Amino acid sequence: MTGARFDTAPETGLTADVDALLAAVTSETRIVFLANPGNPTGTRLSRADVLRLRDGLQGEILLVLDEAYGEFADHLSEPMFDLVTRGNTVLLRTFSKSYGLAGMRVGWGYFPPEIRDELRKVMNPNNASNISQVAALAALDDQNYMRETCRLTADFRYAFISKMRDIGIDAPDSFANFALLSFATSEQAASVGAALRREGVFVRPQSGAGLPHCLRVTIAQGAEMTKAAQLIKKAVCHAN
Ligand SMILES: *Cc1c(COP(=O)(O)O)cnc(C)c1O
Repeated sequence: MTGARFDTAPETGLTADVDALLAAVTSETRIVFLANPGNPTGTRLSRADVLRLRDGLQGEILLVLDEAYGEFADHLSEPMFDLVTRGNTVLLRTFSKSYGLAGMRVGWGYFPPEIRDELRKVMNPNNASNISQVAALAALDDQNYMRETCRLTADFRYAFISKMRDIGIDAPDSFANFALLSFATSEQAASVGAALRREGVFVRPQSGAGLPHCLRVTIAQGAEMTKAAQLIKKAVCHAN
């Protein structure tokens, strides 16, 4: 909307790097965005790291914490909501991930009042539809279902990632509803992706994120993950 320029800061080991973020700040920087957990990595910074980032930024720089996958890390008991009371931090969440309502196009933010009021002035007045808002409220009322979704997702994800590591594929610990597989080469990633596609299993190539040697695999039910793991194993052996 404002035509602002943006820069990115490099990650270290597929994880956001507080020092690199702080080093990328210039006198022109007004907002710092951090997706935590990140996408497509699934990795996250601890509360202590996020506090170090906030404390390392000048007070008037706005920190926007994009916690689209926040519910998948809530069990770690490191909530960041209290930072919003400092007046210079915004926290964003969505119903698209843990609540499974991506098609409803509804999310929410926790804002300092002064920032919320400014945002209201530029927001599209045709905001989330009534139906989306009703669906979101109903979903909020069923926290048990959402928590169980996160718990099951974590179980299937741990099992899948450990199988991948067993066959020599790197995958960082993920705190989201996907696993990022890091292959030896981009050719191997592409050939595994193609082999899965032939069997009707669709995973996301990551060239667009600058990670052509990676595939992002959404965590589905246990049986589907077992099938995907078997297909990947077969494809990797074949590619070797
Ligand atoms: C999915 C996602 C969002 C928000 O998605 P919406 O469907 O637009 O609410 C924001 N940030 C990240 C990192 C995401 O993965």
